[in-house]
Amino acid sequence: MDEESKKILLVEDEKSIRDAVQAYLEHEKYEVTPAEDGVIALERFGKNDFDLVILDLMLPRLSGEQVRNKIRETSMVPIIVLTAKGSIEDRVMNLELGADDYLVKPFSPRELVARVRVLLRRTQNDEENQRIDLGDIVIDMIGHKVFEKGAQIDMTASEYKLLVTLAKSPGRVFTRSELVRKVLGYDFEGYERSIDSHIKNLRAKLGEDPKNPKWLFTVHGIGYRFEFTQG
Ligand code: CA
Repeated sequence: MDEESKKILLVEDEKSIRDAVQAYLEHEKYEVTPAEDGVIALERFGKNDFDLVILDLMLPRLSGEQVRNKIRETSMVPIIVLTAKGSIEDRVMNLELGADDYLVKPFSPRELVARVRVLLRRTQNDEENQRIDLGDIVIDMIGHKVFEKGAQIDMTASEYKLLVTLAKSPGRVFTRSELVRKVLGYDFEGYERSIDSHIKNLRAKLGEDPKNPKWLFTVHGIGYRFEFTQG
């Protein structure tokens, strides 16, 4: 993937953080447009075509939430939210309100760059809509098949759908009821635990160690999330 031309809008009012993140991203050959408050952010967003937005929530003039809502009226551009509020409720809310990922302050710029790369890769995956490459495991979304080192893994339709749903949104936390709706297509509380047994089967088929997963992570009390971690 050609990452050299990817354009990022960086919205952060704290100059030291803004400068540090910008330097890290530019070092990775991303083209960064900084904005120091919500109003300037929306002005710059309106005049450019960005591949990704990094958005601090606590901003002068317009809050990050307002900026995000305004952006989402017209665009599905990937958004990474920077938040000082660290509770899990806030995190889930950010994801539900249209952020694609979040980082809790203080964060390392290196971690942010890694998240940017994953999100841009996911956008690319969506655009190509063909395959998700996990290393030894490859998900072929045209043939609806999963391969391990070239050999097809036998999967039920529900297992396949569950895997694709999670893998298409790395880092995003899915609640059990959300997964029931997306994967099984019905919405009864009693079925939420059936997701657990599908996950269990999926992990077995992918050779995942539940205690030390590579991709399928349990989010205790909530549900599951997928991460790209290369062996
Ligand atoms: Ca701030």
